[in-house]
Amino acid sequence: MNEQFSSHVLSWFDKFGRKTLPWQLNKTPYRVWLSEIMLQQTQVNTVIPYFKRFVERFPSLPDLAEAEQDTVLSLWTGLGYYARARNLHKAAQLAVERYDGQLPDSQAELETLPGIGRSTAGAILSLGFGKPAAILDGNVKRVLARYFGESEWPGKTAVQRSLWQHSEALTPAHRHDDYNQAMMDLGALVCTRSKPDCQACPLRSDCLAYQEDTVATIPAPKPKKENPTRTVYLLIQRDIQTLSILLEQRPATGIWGGLWSFPEYESKSALLNSAPAHPEQLIELSPFKHVFSHFTLHCYPIVVDSHATDAINERKQRWVPLHEDIELGYSAVTVKLFKKLKVLK
Ligand code: SF4
Repeated sequence: MNEQFSSHVLSWFDKFGRKTLPWQLNKTPYRVWLSEIMLQQTQVNTVIPYFKRFVERFPSLPDLAEAEQDTVLSLWTGLGYYARARNLHKAAQLAVERYDGQLPDSQAELETLPGIGRSTAGAILSLGFGKPAAILDGNVKRVLARYFGESEWPGKTAVQRSLWQHSEALTPAHRHDDYNQAMMDLGALVCTRSKPDCQACPLRSDCLAYQEDTVATIPAPKPKKENPTRTVYLLIQRDIQTLSILLEQRPATGIWGGLWSFPEYESKSALLNSAPAHPEQLIELSPFKHVFSHFTLHCYPIVVDSHATDAINERKQRWVPLHEDIELGYSAVTVKLFKKLKVLK
């Protein structure tokens, strides 16, 4: 299966692969490295003029190492992700210090240089030094994830590990450089993120995503982090005519500084023990939750029949009638919860 896979990919490459990109001509480890770093998160057409200017100014690794950082950054201006340029410069200086101005030709040593990860090191070895090595950049990851029908997010450690295993197993010993280039081209030209051209793909007959009609959902997006949750116990006082809600003025500094908001208690008993109310009868309304952009608030409304005083206590708490407009500064959360409570039965 592995040989069949790589032979399909290589036949496609011979017909359609890119072979005359500037970094593919006069190929050296330095030029391959430069192109790999520039191509991270950036399209080939954008990179080409930058690459040409860069190698004209810094034809060799020691030229880059000797340059002022400002000069390096100015040649990078417009390409974005400037940490890449700073790392490139730093790595060139380290290569001069440690390896006599050459890039090392082992995976482990390459990976000690700033900005060179496992896939970039593999590309430098295979494309620059002609040594067999596997790669797994964004394009290759997408092709393999779809081919193997990997439905989970490829950034997950276990998925990464499995994709690396596939990549290593599929990379042929012979023509590994063309194969690696072909996989990158296949991802960039055919198995694109949106609207992949499966009809033109040499892997179609065995591609699981194609067979199972899951191409559009692979690779899966990064799972969203769950919003943190907060809990408030809302104390509502029932009078003969009105409902009042217990609010508390927040400290002047910090979130909602100086505004009136719901007191936050960890538990019902903590609230009842310290609130300015002496419940004779207590009714717990149905809890509800409200989702804000950065957290989810779980609200537990408790209604008490009480004879609470209007006075502001030491926690700066007061009863505020639910259906009257009292001129206080309310936090946005309070305003939203007010609306919710007004329709609460
Ligand atoms: S068949 Fe379609 S989804 Fe599968 S690898 Fe080819 S282009 Fe990608």
